[in-house]
Amino acid sequence: MNRSFNLKKIKDIPEWDVLVIGGGATGLGCAVEAATRGYKTLLLEQHDFAKGTSSRSTKLVHGGVRYLAQGDVSLVLEALKERGLLKQNAPHLVKNQSFIIPNYDWWGGPFYTLGLKVYDMMSGKLGLGPSEHISTEEVTKAIPNLKKKGLNGGVIYYDGQFDDSRLAINLAQTLEDNHGTAINYLKVTGLLKDNFGFINGVNAVDAFTEEEFRLKAKVVINATGVFADEIIQMDAPETRRTIVPSQGVHIVLDKKFLQGDSAIMIPRTSDGRVLFAVPWHGKVVVGTTDTEMDKVTLEPRALPEEIDFILNTAGKYLTYQPKKEDVLSVFAGLRPLAAPDENEKTKEISRSHKITVSPSGLVNIIGGKWTTYRKMGEDTIDKAVLIAGLEEKPSVTANMPIHGYIMNHQSTEFPNNYGSDLQKIKLLIAENHSLAERLSPKYPFLKAEVVWAVREEMALQVEDFLARRIRLLLLDARESIKVAPVVAKVMAKELNKRRNWQKEQVESYTNLAKGYLLD
Ligand SMILES: Cc1cc2nc3c(=O)[nH]c(=O)nc-3n(C[C@H](O)[C@H](O)[C@H](O)COP(=O)(O)OP(=O)(O)OC[C@H]3O[C@@H](n4cnc5c(N)ncnc54)[C@H](O)[C@@H]3O)c2cc1C
Repeated sequence: MNRSFNLKKIKDIPEWDVLVIGGGATGLGCAVEAATRGYKTLLLEQHDFAKGTSSRSTKLVHGGVRYLAQGDVSLVLEALKERGLLKQNAPHLVKNQSFIIPNYDWWGGPFYTLGLKVYDMMSGKLGLGPSEHISTEEVTKAIPNLKKKGLNGGVIYYDGQFDDSRLAINLAQTLEDNHGTAINYLKVTGLLKDNFGFINGVNAVDAFTEEEFRLKAKVVINATGVFADEIIQMDAPETRRTIVPSQGVHIVLDKKFLQGDSAIMIPRTSDGRVLFAVPWHGKVVVGTTDTEMDKVTLEPRALPEEIDFILNTAGKYLTYQPKKEDVLSVFAGLRPLAAPDENEKTKEISRSHKITVSPSGLVNIIGGKWTTYRKMGEDTIDKAVLIAGLEEKPSVTANMPIHGYIMNHQSTEFPNNYGSDLQKIKLLIAENHSLAERLSPKYPFLKAEVVWAVREEMALQVEDFLARRIRLLLLDARESIKVAPVVAKVMAKELNKRRNWQKEQVESYTNLAKGYLLD
């Protein structure tokens, strides 16, 4: 992936078949779907890939036990199928994760065992392991620091776990591997229309140089998540809002708070939500909340009451009560939920996706989940093909390996998120041994990863690397601030930037990362 090359390329292409706005899970899913069917495809992202919600999820590839409880059977069926396909197509990023529901009521055991047996049945051949009721001893053996008072056994079940922004980067690479074009930091600022009022392209602006581009396309897809209404209103300013942003917050704690390999799932907290505590990259991610918001932003911030809720609820189940000073990082994301009917609460709105087409031909895809990104792409491109009058071609993504795919991936070697690219990172080190140096004495991230991210993954700013190429911002925000200067130095050399650039990058990264700390 080379941004300068792509910027030159888009000047030479008179018209794209499909132009996708938004470089999160949904946009990348649409663009990969279009390119792999053989359509000339361009994806534009205003900031970095997965800067929005797609780097801020709970990191689960799941059918959604909760949606089963809500009776949303079709969503669960679809998500379970997609969970299996994603595990099959990106085994280097998706792993099998055991979850334990601890029971503190007499009825919890039989109730959740039955429900999860249904969940297993619904996953069919793509199931990840059988759910079963387990004894109190088995629960405490699996999670030694779970509160034992009143514990009455539990239920173990299996779902997938992944690295969300790494998958986004690998999807952008898959897009390019299939002759598509992806460009970050290129914001769509307007829609172009023909004499009949039909959309036939976009205006876009380079975030670094302010250069303007007029890009023609047979169909334009709006896959901008919580920003969808901004694009819809560029087309028709009077349109009523279609999105309700709902904020979800996670905190990240040291692994001592959740010993063992299993995750905890609390199906019903005091206020009717679901709480997860999931091991992730050697830490524990705990969340989440569901708070309806009025405004959308690329950097949402946790509200004090959301932090208190997570800390207090986790403290009810864990023997070590986590406190604010234990939080290594806190991150918030906005769910792009389709606007509800009157009186519907955000936690009750279906997580299914919705595709709409405006009278001027803008194709909007809203809602959905990371897990179902591929199916969302498939459905959206089916619709876009009709709108653009493109030749119909079958989808090939269901059984298509994603960039980095390795058969039977089981590597625990670090860095182990890169799949087949790991060998190429090792080659960089073989050429220049200094790249084997660690960025931090506390974490195994290497200088070679910085070089790799700039050369091959379109990382352009220190934040791109620390937040989304590796996940240090989310794993330990304070330590990420400490390593920012060395990352800036390696990036500056690769990008041919001056010393001043390094200083500005470190300053702006430090300001951003402070927003992920509680004090
Ligand atoms: C707290 C939380 C936890 C979640 N957990 C899970 C989970 O565990 N598993 C799961 O399957 N799903 C989960 N989800 C849902 C999932 O994360 C989202 O459905 C998904 O990431 C949405 O992706 P998106 O591409 O639609 O939006 P985004 O990721 O927000 O992408 C939209 C992109 O459009 C770009 N954009 C906006 N305007 C423009 C413009 N004018 N020009 C160019 N680009 C533009 C933005 O910069 C952004 O990058 C969770 C969601 C939240 C909030």
